[in-house]
Amino acid sequence: MIQFSLHPAIDHCIKPADPSFAGGTLQCLCPDNKVEVRVSSQTAHNHLCGCSKCWKPEGALFSQVAVVSRDKVTVTAHPEKLAVVDSGATIKRYACKGCGAYMYGRIDNENHPFFGLDFVHTELSPDGGWSPPEFAAFVSSIIESGTDPGNMASIRRSLREKGLEPYDCLSPALMDAIATHVAKASGVLH
Ligand SMILES: [Zn+2]
Ligand SMILES: [Zn+2]
Repeated sequence: MIQFSLHPAIDHCIKPADPSFAGGTLQCLCPDNKVEVRVSSQTAHNHLCGCSKCWKPEGALFSQVAVVSRDKVTVTAHPEKLAVVDSGATIKRYACKGCGAYMYGRIDNENHPFFGLDFVHTELSPDGGWSPPEFAAFVSSIIESGTDPGNMASIRRSLREKGLEPYDCLSPALMDAIATHVAKASGVLH
């Protein structure tokens, strides 16, 4: 039996979303002077992500990341502690310089299919009721971060047991959304 943590937010059980939930506050991991980000709506498309760019908690194989409309995201404390991790990346990920937690990711390219959506890690919020992860994306990519390829079958099995279908890209709904955006941009779809 291989011991691994998919992500601490789901290793024990996945808490359902609160249907009346209307947002909460994300806090960085610093003991004091925490960066705070107010997210004033429920998130969408929460999922586990195996890519090497997303922020993962210590020891976790996956990150947990959700999207929310960028106009719902406001830095409410210690913006001076935030810095962009990689200014060349499509998603500008704003991390706390003190503890390293990624507070939100934003796309500046107006032509990107996901422009207008910010990426957030709701595990950084003490508030309950956030939408839980629905699937696992870029699963094969955890090998690039050092996971033994021989463990992948049991990792995929463990994801399925939790109801998180493993994909090696994004989910079909999000891949369709990207392709639709591309088809409309090129004029083949109206
Ligand atoms: Zn911090
Ligand atoms: Zn990712």
